[in-house]
Amino acid sequence: MALRNIRIEGDPILRKVCKPVSQVDERTRELIDDMLETMYDADGVGLAAPQVGILKRIVVIDIGEGPVVMINPEIIESSGSQTGQEGCLSVPGKAGIVTRPMHVKAKAFDADMKEYIIEGEELMARAICHELAHLDGDLYIDHVEGELMDVVADEEQ
Ligand code: ZN
Repeated sequence: MALRNIRIEGDPILRKVCKPVSQVDERTRELIDDMLETMYDADGVGLAAPQVGILKRIVVIDIGEGPVVMINPEIIESSGSQTGQEGCLSVPGKAGIVTRPMHVKAKAFDADMKEYIIEGEELMARAICHELAHLDGDLYIDHVEGELMDVVADEEQ
């Protein structure tokens, strides 16, 4: 396992659309392990592959309830709304108010390419929406209500 370099906003790779994963090989497993390690090292709750420069549809999330690996994820249901502060490891030192669904249901494949369904509310719903958006080159700063704010490092998501 190794830490990967987190790409920072302005890097064109963050605006690209990622490709679906067809099979999980040794390199993909290494990427997933590295993404988890990089996310924990940076105190983030989620990380998408393009944030470490890889244009594959893979995200990892841990909101404090254990690691979730999502390969080729897709939101299949969403409901309600929540308006709150959001940040991104690719936009260090900043946060902004974004409205997201309160509840989402998504399907994805795990690291063994087994399909599963995951439901999330509140922070988990927000994290799923935020990370999946990265796979289509969409950053939360495009959706901020009002101004992007400066924050201290330990408040970043
Ligand atoms: Zn992000």
